[in-house]
Amino acid sequence: MDTMPDPLRASLCDVTSAFPNRQGIIVKLLRLDLIHPVISGNKWFKLKYNLQDALDGGFEQIITFGGNYSNHLLAAAAASKHAGLRSVGVVRGYHGQQVLSATLQDCTSLGMELHFVSRTEYAKKEDPDLISELQSIFGPSFIIPEGGDNAAGRRGAGEIAALVPDGTSMLCLPVGTGTTFCGIRNALPLNIQMTGFTAMNAGGYLQQEIQKHLTDKLHRNWSLRTDYSFGGFAKTPPALIDFMKQFNLQTAIPLDIVYTGKMMFGIQQMIREQAFAAGEQILCIHTGGLQGNPTGLFNP
Ligand SMILES: *Cc1c(COP(=O)(O)O)cnc(C)c1O
Repeated sequence: MDTMPDPLRASLCDVTSAFPNRQGIIVKLLRLDLIHPVISGNKWFKLKYNLQDALDGGFEQIITFGGNYSNHLLAAAAASKHAGLRSVGVVRGYHGQQVLSATLQDCTSLGMELHFVSRTEYAKKEDPDLISELQSIFGPSFIIPEGGDNAAGRRGAGEIAALVPDGTSMLCLPVGTGTTFCGIRNALPLNIQMTGFTAMNAGGYLQQEIQKHLTDKLHRNWSLRTDYSFGGFAKTPPALIDFMKQFNLQTAIPLDIVYTGKMMFGIQQMIREQAFAAGEQILCIHTGGLQGNPTGLFNP
C-alpha cells in the first residue's frame, strides 16, 4: 500500500485454456491490476503525468471528478497523497445519501476531501464557470478531468504499449472514457489491431471521441464493440457473474464486474462466433478495478 505503483509487477498470463477453440487462437492477459493494490490498472498510467504537471506547476492540491464507485477517484486520492498533493473529489449526485460508498470511504481515509454536486451541476464539469467556482471554494488547484481524460492521461496510457509482447496481433481492452484506448493506439505499432469493449450503455459516441485524439486518423486498425456492456455500468446480470466465477476457477484470476468481466465475456462470445481471425494472438488488458467488486464474489 505504501509503495509506488510498479509496472514491472504486471504479469502476463496465458488464459487460452479458458477459451478452447479450434482456430489456433491464443489469448493472453496482461495483469495491470497487479501494479498496486489501490492505484491499480490503467489509472496509474493516466495519472502519472497529470500529477507531474501539478507538481511542476507549483500546485499543492488537485481537484478531480467521479461517481460513487469511481476507480479513478480512489486512485487519484492514493496517488496524490503519494505525490504530496492534497486532493478534492467532486462527486456526482448527492440524493440524500447518508452512508458513503466503500470507495468514497476509502477516498476520505486517504485524505481526499469530497464535494458532492447534483447531476445537473456535475454535467458542467468542464465548464470554466464551475471550475472557477471550485477554485474559489478550495483554493488554487490543478484540475484533472474525470477519468484522467486529457493529453497527459493519454501520454501516460501510451506507456502501456511497451508492455505488449511480441507476436501480438490483436489487443483488447475495456473502454470508459476512451483515454486509455487512445493513448495505447497512438503508441502501438500500426500493424497490431485493437478492439475496445465499451462499458457504458449507448457507448456509440466513443467512436468519434476516440477518433478525435488519434494521431493517425486514417488507419482503420481499431474498432469498438458496444454490445457487451450488459446495459451499462451498474448492470451485473447472473450470466456475467457466472462467467466471471467460471473464469476465476479456471485461471485463479479475478476480473472486475464493470469493465474486464464484460470484456472477457465478450471475447468468449466472439471466439465462439468466429469473429476473430484464425491464429489470432490476442492480448487482453486487465485494467484493474477490483476494489469495486462486491465482497466475497469469488469465494464459494
Ligand atoms: C477507468 C477504467 C477503465 C476505462 O478507462 P478509460 O481510459 O476511461 O477508457 C477500464 N477499466 C477499468 C478497470 C477502469 O477502472
